[in-house]
Amino acid sequence: MRPPSIFEHASEGIFQTSLDGRYLAANPALARIYGYASPEELIADLSDIEHQLYVKPGRREEFRRAMEAHGEVVNFESEVYRRDGSKIWISENAHIVRGANGEFICYEGTVQDITERRRYQEQLERQANYDLLTGLPNRNLLADRLDQAILRAERLGYFLAVVFIDLDGFKFINDTLGHDAGDELLIEIANRLRACLRGSDTVARQGGDEFVLVLNDHYRTNSIISLLERVLMEVGRPVWLAGREFQVGASLGVAVFPQDGSDAATLMKNADIAMYAAKNRGRNNFQFFTRDLNRMAEERLNLETAMRAGIEQNEFLAYFQPKVDHRRRVVGVEALARWQSPAYGMVSPDRFIPIAEETGLILPLTEAILRQAFAAAARWPALHGQVPHLAVNLSPKLFLDEGLVNRCATLLREAGLPPERVELEITESVFLGDGERAVRLLHEFKELGVALAMDDFGTGYSSLSYLRRFPLDIIKIDRSLVTGIEHEEEVAMIARAVISLGQSLRKTVVAEGVENAAQFDFLRYQGCHEFQGWLFSRPLPEQEFRALLERGGQC
Ligand code: C2E
Ligand code: CA
Ligand code: CA
Repeated sequence: MRPPSIFEHASEGIFQTSLDGRYLAANPALARIYGYASPEELIADLSDIEHQLYVKPGRREEFRRAMEAHGEVVNFESEVYRRDGSKIWISENAHIVRGANGEFICYEGTVQDITERRRYQEQLERQANYDLLTGLPNRNLLADRLDQAILRAERLGYFLAVVFIDLDGFKFINDTLGHDAGDELLIEIANRLRACLRGSDTVARQGGDEFVLVLNDHYRTNSIISLLERVLMEVGRPVWLAGREFQVGASLGVAVFPQDGSDAATLMKNADIAMYAAKNRGRNNFQFFTRDLNRMAEERLNLETAMRAGIEQNEFLAYFQPKVDHRRRVVGVEALARWQSPAYGMVSPDRFIPIAEETGLILPLTEAILRQAFAAAARWPALHGQVPHLAVNLSPKLFLDEGLVNRCATLLREAGLPPERVELEITESVFLGDGERAVRLLHEFKELGVALAMDDFGTGYSSLSYLRRFPLDIIKIDRSLVTGIEHEEEVAMIARAVISLGQSLRKTVVAEGVENAAQFDFLRYQGCHEFQGWLFSRPLPEQEFRALLERGGQC
């Protein structure tokens, strides 16, 4: 019996080939790897290694050159065609066989099928470079692409834009609808962004709800602008989540090479700053980076730091703006936050509330305001047998916290203020997202005994259905409907409709922002119940409001 030869029984493919790319010998393993029935068939069919075997053109030439230089190749990895046209990856180890006089006889070597290993490697690479959820390039790959894009823009003298995208309201949907819905939303947005771009552009997921675009080869800022407009439109289209329709927006910040930065880090930082500016400007818009923005971003950061200190130092004060009845007698009052900052002077809530909401400072800030307002209200004297009721504002962000009602109840108890004297002003956005949690909390508040007011009414979208479904006692007509009521017929019409709606639903109707007698008369004639605005009084420090009450509360 012949001993089994290594050649016949090896699991590796073994070959001998000629200089011009034909097989001189092949073993059964090689035939199997390449998909042939036998070595004979392989040798007969595969007569042009250069064109028939290697997928990448010129690969055989590389093999030959490596051989010439070193007399061998080690772990030479290539993609090759099998007989049926499918592709696999192989690794070759080979050397030159020479005759006694050093003349070339053949190449001889082994072949291993490494397809599995390559696939695994590719998968690892994907995981290192791509975001698993959306399939978009991740931060790693983005950094690579951006470096390349900068080199290219430098060489060709093109514009290059880096765009930071942050979804508006994502956190809210994620927190209220759950992470599955949040994931679904991210995937949908990723697909829409991809669809907006050209092949040469990159969209990457930076993490969370942040995406980054790298826009190459733009000749004019105009073409960047029209692309950004398309992005805003696409992102703003309604999305179906958990069986309901939602709308999200996006804030976009743009930094352009070379004027806004010549390296990746600077461009990213400045795009981020511009994105924050877009958010502050009211969301769903884009903003180009400017030197001024840089200054503003620093200011914002300083403001946040100062706010943290200011809360500790009790720099936040509750001011009080009276609400009057149709005879201008004080019947209630709204507590409004003021920040008396040693560094910035008197800062308006429109500036610090949004920052507080983003940073989580809204919680300690609200506590500070409620504590002061409740304590003050507990000491007010009665007017005509009735103590004015106190209204406080609750940010929608607070409704993410299950402990909200308890916290308020504790503050009321500590101040010794009966809940029946308190109104909570909320805005429609409290129902954004699921709304179920908000509704539950509102019912808990009702059980506690406080009244609920819908603030800024008439500016939102589905106001009517909220009014019917939620336990609201009061609606406050937004200032924008009051302003111009006396000379814009359309505004007057809406205001009239809102008032009669409130009346038919048996809600107390309050008008805010009443600045002149004509507005007051119109609203009074339409049957509004309470009025608030500069015509009667500006927001006052506690002392002054108290003095007003002691004088009899007539504005
Ligand atoms: P808001 O709740 O709609 O408050 C009414 C705003 O209108 C107040 O501005 C008030 O000073 C102003 N105002 C009152 N009468 C008139 C008027 O006749 N004409 C005009 N042009 N304005 C008038 P303020 O105090 O600057 O507050 C702005 C917003 O900041 C508030 O709007 C509210 O959304 C928020 N805010 C204020 N204090 C707090 C607070 O303690 N907590 C929360 N979450 N938000 C607050
Ligand atoms: Ca309010
Ligand atoms: Ca309001």
